[in-house]
Amino acid sequence: MIKIQRDMDFELNETQQMIAQSAADFAEQYIRPHIMEWDEAQTFPVHVFKKLGEMGMMGVLVPEEYGGAGMGYIEYIAIIKEIARVDPSIGLSVAAHNSLCTNHIFMFGNEEQKKRWLPKLATAEWIGAWGLTEVGTGSDARGMNTTAEKQGDEWVLNGAKNFITHGKSGDVAVVIARTGDKGDSHGMTAFVIEKGTPGFSAGRKEDKLGMRASETTELIFEQCRIPDANRLGEVGEGFIQSMKILDGGRISIAALSLGVATGALDAALKYSEERRQFGRPIGDFQAIGFKLADMATELDAAELLTYRAGAIKNAGKRVTRESSMAKYYASEVSCRVANEAVQIFGGYGYTKDFPVEKFYRDCKLCTIGEGTSEIQKLVIHKTMRN
Ligand SMILES: Cc1cc2nc3c(=O)[nH]c(=O)nc-3n(C[C@H](O)[C@H](O)[C@H](O)COP(=O)(O)OP(=O)(O)OC[C@H]3O[C@@H](n4cnc5c(N)ncnc54)[C@H](O)[C@@H]3O)c2cc1C
Repeated sequence: MIKIQRDMDFELNETQQMIAQSAADFAEQYIRPHIMEWDEAQTFPVHVFKKLGEMGMMGVLVPEEYGGAGMGYIEYIAIIKEIARVDPSIGLSVAAHNSLCTNHIFMFGNEEQKKRWLPKLATAEWIGAWGLTEVGTGSDARGMNTTAEKQGDEWVLNGAKNFITHGKSGDVAVVIARTGDKGDSHGMTAFVIEKGTPGFSAGRKEDKLGMRASETTELIFEQCRIPDANRLGEVGEGFIQSMKILDGGRISIAALSLGVATGALDAALKYSEERRQFGRPIGDFQAIGFKLADMATELDAAELLTYRAGAIKNAGKRVTRESSMAKYYASEVSCRVANEAVQIFGGYGYTKDFPVEKFYRDCKLCTIGEGTSEIQKLVIHKTMRN
């Protein structure tokens, strides 16, 4: 058992192992047979998320009183990792639904709002989306142009969000809009908007390099009216809330990265024992063995950082630095491991006949989504100076 510091115990207990196993079994049975078909057609398989909802995996962090599984971040990391080990794009969608949309309502919604939306989200009766990014404002979300103007008891939203996971298939979205001065971190507010609300629609679907079974689209607001009852928390707190949501969300992207790296490493190790050149398995060559050793070591280090962040989050302590470190390191490791896995497969790794080609494409999102690696380093350095 590894104990390093603060609230940590890195061996999954029996229940956590069972949860991880059931996620792994689910991925083998319902996801693996369709990976390339969904990837090629960019199919977002809604029915898979409904099934995951039946298993509690779409409301992992939601307490049972609101229809969720009432689990913590350790279980959450294990679930995302096991799903992503098979298909990272399904892992990405599970992560976005759980830790962005659903968790925003759980953390900042009032009792009435939690009762209204969480049971539907936690069971995946409804799929959730979360909109912060815009065309002109990604890393610097404070400069957003989407506005919400108060008119009587209603808010009127105008503008567009970009790169939104489940922007089209989502039944409900948490959206951050500007209610004050541009650039003011207290000038934005969060709202819940249901599909079908007049003036709310999905725009273009992105044609992506990887994560192709996870739907990514624009969200458009044209004189979209919503009641004040759909506002999450105080006016002006939306951006601050979002930063807190991303503290947790980044743990899920770290977990996603662990899944990518584990899937790629497992495939490369197996192949290194099967593929023969110069009369012996390529795994006999030290050059290949050293690659595998580096991949395994970096993956373990990434896993430790990720579970540390999960343990700190579970303890209710501030996790900004640790979640950024986990996300930054694990995502970069996922790309290094996927790259080396393709190398170990040689020419076959460059084809769609083997899984490493897809891990190589999928991994790149991990260093970009929920804050790029450069932004994680800015966050880490900022916390060092405070
Ligand atoms: C598949 C996918 C799904 C997504 N899902 C969602 C979602 O559900 N909801 C949502 O709101 N957003 C979502 N996003 C958006 C994502 O969070 C942004 O793409 C990301 O934050 C980066 O923003 P950007 O793409 O505008 O890049 P930019 O901010 O334009 O960055 C471009 C480059 O400049 C660098 N850079 C920027 N500022 C600095 C700086 N100060 N110092 C050093 N380097 C800097 C960046 O690191 C990057 O390398 C998704 C994106 C993708 C690709």
